Amino acid sequence: MDKRIHLTGLTQAELTALVSEMNEPSYRAGQIFAAVHGRRLRSFDEMTDLPKDFRARLAERASVSTLKVESRYLSEDGTRRYLLKTEDNLPVEAVFIPEERRDTICFSSQSGCPLQCDFCLTARLGLLRTLTAGEIVEQIIIALNDAYGEGVRTPHGTNLVAMGAGEPFLAFEPLMKALRIMADPKGLYIVPNRVTVSTAGVVPRIRELATVADRPHLAISLAAPTDELRDVLMPINKKWPLEELMAACKEFERSLKAGERFTFEYVMLDNVNDSDEQARQLANLLNRHNLRAKVNLIPHNPAEPLPYRPSSPERVESFKAILESKGVQAYVRRPRGRDIYAACGQLAARRTANTLTANPSPV
Ligand code: SF4
Repeated sequence: MDKRIHLTGLTQAELTALVSEMNEPSYRAGQIFAAVHGRRLRSFDEMTDLPKDFRARLAERASVSTLKVESRYLSEDGTRRYLLKTEDNLPVEAVFIPEERRDTICFSSQSGCPLQCDFCLTARLGLLRTLTAGEIVEQIIIALNDAYGEGVRTPHGTNLVAMGAGEPFLAFEPLMKALRIMADPKGLYIVPNRVTVSTAGVVPRIRELATVADRPHLAISLAAPTDELRDVLMPINKKWPLEELMAACKEFERSLKAGERFTFEYVMLDNVNDSDEQARQLANLLNRHNLRAKVNLIPHNPAEPLPYRPSSPERVESFKAILESKGVQAYVRRPRGRDIYAACGQLAARRTANTLTANPSPV
């Protein structure tokens, strides 16, 4: 693997240290940061505001881009999925979801995932590697460049969701560093308030996130209203069962700002977790802990060879109605990019020849 420093994963302070080591004035750090994150340039050749000899010396010690776009898929609904490869040849996936008010980029925190959620295709890969801060930031740069072009301001801003491959709380340090880098007004300027991190329920990290001053929003994937079922669907539950998870959420609640709520994600699996009784159990669980929360119901996205089917739209509506009748706010999340395997739980480095764009332009 290339041992050069990956500049995309450095803060402005770290860049300043690097340029001073190279006997360059400190303002060079600002120039590099603005080029990598502000103008989203992916090679030293394009950074023409830096002297040529400095660029050559920089290229010996550092790299700007490490991820390669292996394939790029375009859905009928405008969603784009990127299958990227790390320098050590591991798959990373990111998804760009165009929306009327604000686009969303779903990024990965790990290549593969060590958790064994039974309804998730990524789980079948196992953990390949946790990504670095630079690799996390680069996914967003690649998606924005593809959607809008290098250096072009995004027309309506961007939301980020850490809901791609991997458990973000098992990539806590690189993730938090990536968020700090992306929040910089001289760079991408995507502030933590625009970011949602989704966890399968790594309890100690939920508590830790509550102590972070400028933190992202939190979403928790539940998938089941009882320990018995959650142990099967999300084995992490055996380590941190529902009561412990809810207790950590209760603690986290103290860090919520006015108007802020948790999101509980609930994937809806036909005849597995979608009965009226389970809707009542879910409402009771949340009400018992009196959490300021909403529930996102996510119809399962079919993904061979997983043995699950999505709940019918009628079942989803009945489930939602029961939650609401018990005072729990519930929303149905519309699946995006299903035809290109870009939807939740479908990311598994899959190639889909039918929707590969004719000319996967370099991004
Ligand atoms: S649902 Fe998320 S946490 Fe669970 S296996 Fe899949 S990627 Fe990992």
